[in-house]
Amino acid sequence: MDKKTILRERFGFPFFREGQEALIDAILSGRDVFGVMPTGGGKSLCYQIPALLLEGLTLVVSPLISLMKDQVAALKEAGIPAAFLNSSLTPAQQREVLRRAGLGAYRLIYVAPERLLTDSFLEFAAGQRIALLAVDEAHCVSQWGQDFRPNYLDIPAFVRRLSRRPVLAAFTATATAEVGEDVVRLLELREPLRLVTGFDRPNLYFDVRRERDKAAWLMNYLQQHRDRSGIVYCATRKTVEQLCEKLRSAGFAATRYHAGLDDAERRENQEDFAYDRATVMLATNAFGMGIDKSNVSFVIHYNMPKNIESYYQEAGRAGRDGAPADCVLLFSPGDVITAEYLIQNGSEREQLDEALRAQLLIRDMKRLRQMQDYCKTDGCYRAALLDYFGEAHRPTCGCCGNCVQREEAPAGETVEEDITLAARKILSCVRRVERKNGVGLGETMLVLVLAGSRDKTLLAREYDLLPTYGIMKDCKRPLLHEYIRELVKQGYLLRPPGDYDVLVTAEKANKVLFETEQVLWRHAVSEETRQGKKTAAGSPGAAEQSLFDRLRGLRAELARQARVPAYVIFHDATLLNLASAQPATEAELLAVSGVGEQKAKKYGQAVLAVLAEWKQEQQARKSSKAKKEEPQPPLRLSPEQLARYVCDPEGISMTEFARRLTALKEEGDPGELTGRQLSNRLLAEGYLTEQSSETDDLRRRPTPAGEAVGMTLTERTGKDGRTFTMVTLTEQAQRWLIDRLSEGLIIESAPYTELP
Ligand code: ADP
Ligand code: MG
Ligand code: ZN
Repeated sequence: MDKKTILRERFGFPFFREGQEALIDAILSGRDVFGVMPTGGGKSLCYQIPALLLEGLTLVVSPLISLMKDQVAALKEAGIPAAFLNSSLTPAQQREVLRRAGLGAYRLIYVAPERLLTDSFLEFAAGQRIALLAVDEAHCVSQWGQDFRPNYLDIPAFVRRLSRRPVLAAFTATATAEVGEDVVRLLELREPLRLVTGFDRPNLYFDVRRERDKAAWLMNYLQQHRDRSGIVYCATRKTVEQLCEKLRSAGFAATRYHAGLDDAERRENQEDFAYDRATVMLATNAFGMGIDKSNVSFVIHYNMPKNIESYYQEAGRAGRDGAPADCVLLFSPGDVITAEYLIQNGSEREQLDEALRAQLLIRDMKRLRQMQDYCKTDGCYRAALLDYFGEAHRPTCGCCGNCVQREEAPAGETVEEDITLAARKILSCVRRVERKNGVGLGETMLVLVLAGSRDKTLLAREYDLLPTYGIMKDCKRPLLHEYIRELVKQGYLLRPPGDYDVLVTAEKANKVLFETEQVLWRHAVSEETRQGKKTAAGSPGAAEQSLFDRLRGLRAELARQARVPAYVIFHDATLLNLASAQPATEAELLAVSGVGEQKAKKYGQAVLAVLAEWKQEQQARKSSKAKKEEPQPPLRLSPEQLARYVCDPEGISMTEFARRLTALKEEGDPGELTGRQLSNRLLAEGYLTEQSSETDDLRRRPTPAGEAVGMTLTERTGKDGRTFTMVTLTEQAQRWLIDRLSEGLIIESAPYTELP
């Protein structure tokens, strides 16, 4: 087996990420390494893969119990024998682990730094061939960092006690120079390969918001991301407590974490979060390295942190699996005061001497200012972060709060869109009709041809034989109307005098059709598009989303059975990949990123079954929908039946009118009439007219002729609080329609377009 095969077959990933291969190669060649990669960059694989290839055992020094537990669980899932040794095991359990380890039962053993120099461990180590000693979260060795762990300093002493020096591999996400120097020096690395990978995390969306009511904003955000898991960092325990209460009483599965809780509760809450029993974690920065949860899809900072290192590390806990995730910082000037207070009164450094403390204080205040600058920048947030870490980058990223705001003009303003391609299709369609008939065609008919409608008149004129028939069937019809009107406005299409309802191409259209002329459309930004781009989390389309949810359900069940956190079974990113690739066979399944052989063996059948079931349902839904779309016979009511209609003096909508009429038909009569058909007919007859409104919908309103027979426009307020207008049929209009229907007017089910 080589490293690539292990990556593919054991871990299910097709490619190495940046830096991984070089680090693995160095370790395999016997060289020490020091890898600096951002949180979520994939440091674990850098020692896990060599562990499988080297002759001998790999020890991993890791600072936290929860980290070890999760990693070991994930390794076991991938079919790799591993164990951990820490204070969560009883002495008897520890002896058992060491006994089995002595028999060669494991490839990797995770160990807490406190354990290294204990007699039992030293004795065990003496009898082993230890090929690799990996030091995870290596910055813990430095007192410059926030996570200083004195026992990390025992590591070189432990190494010296071994008869044969293993390869040393240190990893951290902390990029500062001081920490880097400390790691190499204090761990006594020998001419290590030092590798710092890019700090950019393209799947994270960064934003800073100044919300007057942070709590309200948070509630609203959580409401919109209900099924997602995320962390809300607060500056103080008090805020954690208050928010947690508030969210719980609003029905969110929230839990909390801070240094004021006892160990047992902290552990329990962290597990609730890891196992998705709680979806929102409210925490102070005490909730730290322990979180290897890969499906965190947002990290909200309720207050500004003390410095950018902390911010990036905490925010970086989002989207470790590579799926899109949000990192939002809620800034208020009060946060600066809190942060200053925490810096000046922090107890972390009581044991340090005066001079060093003063030095650190100055440094911390400077970092706080840089953090503030970040919050206030109106440039690209990603660029600001990467600047801070000294990394080259493009001037703007297009995926942060400021970039999006710049690209998408705020409400009321306009954007310029390149619609050349749409224009070509439309102009070419008109041109074809002109060639066929010698004349152009009406706007409504043009839309039907582009959309590929089965309209009778269209078929009678054989427009379905045109090569441009249906070429814009994926485009919403109101948008097609807007495009056409824009082309008229810009003079590419003309309405010849005397025949107002016909469109023909202008000479100028040739420039678009046969040359390289661009068509730009300046128009108002719709609220929907801006909303849609505002956050990254939750991007899949509706169908994929429903499949994703289904797969999550399966994963939850599998996780429950295996008693591991859900992301140990499959990451969210893997589920998203499955939902979009929709594999049908085992081979296709293995081709999906995140599915290794072991996982395919264990869960493949269950996953394929869910996929097959979902596809079948989807098919069934489609065919029943297709059935529905088959033209229904028109509603034909006799004058006697029509006489039973009671006019509503209040005035009713066309939909309601159609519904009441349909209710008059005989049992078993398949005839149907909808409000839309009625409206189309009245539009075609000139009683209604269409007008585009700010939303992408076309609004209809009565013409003077319509008003004359009793149609009015009324304003309503929808469920979402927005007002919209609606055509109402007054009593007079209802009577007028009943009379016409009695005289034999039939409203066909195919959308009415042009009068015969
Ligand atoms: P960290 O650097 O923070 O320790 P991890 O080792 O925990 O990061 O990896 C973060 C996530 O990235 C994990 O879910 C892991 O499975 C995934 N990952 C690691 N390497 C790859 C890869 N080559 N391709 C795809 N996903 C990977
Ligand atoms: Mg890690
Ligand atoms: Zn940006």
